[in-house]
Order: sequence, then C-alpha cells, then structure tokens
Amino acid sequence: MNKYETIIGLEVHAELKTKSKIYCDCKNSFGSDPNTNICPICMGMPGTLPSLNKKAVEYAIKMGHALNCKINNISHQDRKNYFYPDLPKGYQISQADTPLCENGYLDIMVEGKKRRIRITRIHIEEDAGKLLHDNSDNNSLIDFNRCGVPLIEIVTEPDIKSSKEANIFLDTIKAILKYIDISDCKMQEGSIRCDVNVSVRPYGESLLGTRCEMKNVNSFSAAVRAIEYESKRQISILENNGFLFQETRRWDDSKGISIIMRTKEDMQDYRFFPEPDLCSIFTDDETIKRIKSEIPELPNDKLFRYTDVLCLPYNDAVLIAYSYDKAKFFDEAVKLDICSPKSICNKIISDVLKYLNESEKELSETYITPQKLVRVIKEVENGNISNTSASTVIKLLMEENKEPEDIISERNLTQNSDEEFLLDLVNDVIASEKKSVIDYKNGKKNVLGYIVGKCMKKSMGKANPVKINEIVLNIINREE
Ligand code: ADP
Ligand code: MG
Ligand code: ZN
Repeated sequence: MNKYETIIGLEVHAELKTKSKIYCDCKNSFGSDPNTNICPICMGMPGTLPSLNKKAVEYAIKMGHALNCKINNISHQDRKNYFYPDLPKGYQISQADTPLCENGYLDIMVEGKKRRIRITRIHIEEDAGKLLHDNSDNNSLIDFNRCGVPLIEIVTEPDIKSSKEANIFLDTIKAILKYIDISDCKMQEGSIRCDVNVSVRPYGESLLGTRCEMKNVNSFSAAVRAIEYESKRQISILENNGFLFQETRRWDDSKGISIIMRTKEDMQDYRFFPEPDLCSIFTDDETIKRIKSEIPELPNDKLFRYTDVLCLPYNDAVLIAYSYDKAKFFDEAVKLDICSPKSICNKIISDVLKYLNESEKELSETYITPQKLVRVIKEVENGNISNTSASTVIKLLMEENKEPEDIISERNLTQNSDEEFLLDLVNDVIASEKKSVIDYKNGKKNVLGYIVGKCMKKSMGKANPVKINEIVLNIINREE
C-alpha cells in the first residue's frame, strides 16, 4: 500500500494566436525562416519602446472567464530579470503581483466524478527565443522569431492529486483554449508547455511537503511521466530517511529522468520591478462583460448536455465533448434533425474515431461531413445497407471526397431485402444446422445470433440482417 499522497501544481504556458507579437508589430507565426520576424523592439535594442497588443489582453481575459476567474480592472506589467541567450533584452515582461485574472477554478471529470482545481492566476507575458543545439559541431544557434510572442501563464493551486488528474486537467485546458479560439494548441510546435511542481506527503498530513519544480515539460504525456518519476524519487528519499530540498529540476523526457538545475539556495533572483515603459492595464466592466458574452458553450457544459439532455453514454460523450472538432461535427449532425443523437454518436465512436486513430489523422484532414454521415445512417435505418457496409462507406467517405450514394452503388453494397431470396437463404442454412436448431429449442438462445451470422456470411454480407433475424425466428419457432 502506498503511504504517500502526491500533490501537484501546474504552471501552463500557452501561446496566443494573435496576428502580431505582444509589444511590437512583428508577425506572430510559427515556421518562418529563422530571425525573419524580428525588429529592434523584440530584439531589445536600447531606446526602443514596447506597446501592448490589445488582442493579447482580450484573449487572456477570455481564458479568465472560461476558468471562472475574477478579472482585475487594473493590472500591472513587471520586468522579470534574468540572463540567458534566448532573451536579448535581459528581462522578460511579465506580471508579478497584479495579474489580469485570479481566483478561478476549473472542474475536471475524473472517472465520472467532478474534481475542482483552483486557478491561482492567469497573467500575460512574452515568450523568449529558441535555442537550437547542434551537437555535431558543438554549436548553438538562436532563432529570435519567438521573442515577444504573447503567452498566457495559467497557475493552479496545489490541488491536483495524481498524474492522471494532471493529464485530464491539461486536456481540458487544451480543449477550452481550442473552443475559445485563442491558441493553436499545436503541441509539436510548443504552443502549450508546462512547469510541473510535485511534492509528496504521508496520507493524513495536512501540511504540504517540499516541492520540486520541473521545467521543460513539452507534452502532456511527458508531464505524466515526469510526475510519476518525481513522486517515486521523493517517496524513496523519504522512505530511506533522507531529506528533501526545494529544487528546480529539468525533465529529460528522452532519458525519463529529472536532473537538478538549482536548489533553493541558488534560486534565481528575478529582481522583479514595475515595467517603466508601459502603463497599467485598465479594463472597464463593459469590456469584461463583452468578452464574457463571446464565450461559447465549453466542454464541461457540452458534456452535461450530451449526457443529461441527449442521453449519450458518459464515456462516449467525454470523447466527443472534449474535442472541439468532434463536438462541432456531432452538433452539426444533430442539428440536421435527420437521425437520433444516439445513432450519430454511435457511428462517430465506432467508425469515425476508429479511422482517425488508425490513420493518426485529425477530423479536419478527412473528407467526411456531418451531412454525409447522416445520409449513411439513414441508409442503414431504411434497410438499404447493413451496418457492416456502413462502416465501409464511412471509411471511404473519410478517405475521399465522394458521395455516400455513389460509394454504395459503385461497391454494390445495397442489401438484399427480397423476401423470397432471404427465405431460400435461411432455409438452406437451417437445413445444414440441424444441431444448432435443437440447441436453440433446448434453451441456448444465443444460437440465434450464430445462425443469423451464417446467413449473413452466405450472402456475403448483402442480406438484410433485421429481416434475416425475423425469418430465422419464424422458421425455428414453427419447426417441430
Ligand atoms: P514560484 O513562483 O516559485 O514558481 P509559486 O508559489 O507561484 O512559486 O508556485 C508555483 C506552483 O507550485 C503553483 O502551481 C503551486 O500550486 C505549486 N506548488 C506550491 N507548493 C507546492 C507543493 N508543496 N507541492 C506541489 N505543488 C506546489
Ligand atoms: Mg514557477
Ligand atoms: Zn518585433
């Protein structure tokens, strides 16, 4: 039995998808040639003056609303001083004591139960450049394009209790960022990164243990690994009567270990002071209210609507509600009002998601539309094609820009509902399955499925299974 509880606090950085950078009008875009989106301001030349991007502030406030924060009418920007080659100014403009948003919370769903994670604050700051280490000739290159890209930092209270909860929290944050459309959320491009603070304490202890902060965690799965590693490391030190020190560690995901960067004694002194080149940020209630009105239905509300209003199974609803693309697709299909939400959900879960997983594609990279999916479901409901054929059609609709009806006729997928044909088919099968029929009469009711399966196989999937089922039942019950 594990005697220790793990406590986690996260600091999540998300790049905002504004057109220009936060303090200059350089382009904010990923993937440009190195050092092409730069100017004297974001390069930190003496004598230049920053001017704040209004959109970045609005985006941060939007996230503040989505995370139930108090939005401050007045907030300040501060200089966080440190020296590193990716930061030409020698300081980062951030927010120290008065962030834009504070005291919020996010409810996450962990195994069907609601867990409330308190949000300490959300503030805006600027990103630093990117160092590219070239191991072959021991050089480092610097790309300053990312300097001055607007970031929000979301800081949680130490309310997260496991790597699993951390993962769900991060997934939910990512979904919300997508829903409110303020960040690209492209993990592989580093649009979301986090620092992970971990401590452990014996169960029942009310004081927090000594924490370690891990930097350089670039994916949610890395966060999970970092938390698990760090909690084991700390527990083993305590179990061996060792002493834990407050440290900053670097997570090395390729090696699966955390490495000490600095201890509390040599903790960086950032010498925060108010940014003298920028005035306070004033946000009036009117603006705060307007931004709130722009928040769409968020994943948690969607989940609630799917399970409690549309009566979808919880596990399916979660998969759809927390994915912006899938929820949009599902909602549009439901809105067409041609098929039941349940049947749409079933096809999304069984066929659409299966294809996406296998092909490692995003929904937007496929050709299927809500209209087409609904038409396929209708074909099944009208008895024109079988569910098996529907799976084939859906897969093809995702691969190619075609119409469902064309695929059905090209591939000759229409099912046979002809009474005479089906009757002959069933009679043939039953004649060769005498033993199964006897078993059925002796109470082995699941034999029915077996016989229907045989009929479907004999028809090479073309027979209408609903009709087959009826006919088989009729014949078996009639036979003496
Ligand atoms: P700093 O500014 O040095 O990073 P903060 O007090 O702002 O320190 O805390 C940063 C993060 O660390 C927050 O997410 C907070 O919840 C988390 N944290 C603080 N104490 C602990 C602890 N004992 N165990 C785990 N996380 C902690
Ligand atoms: Mg920190
Ligand atoms: Zn610039």
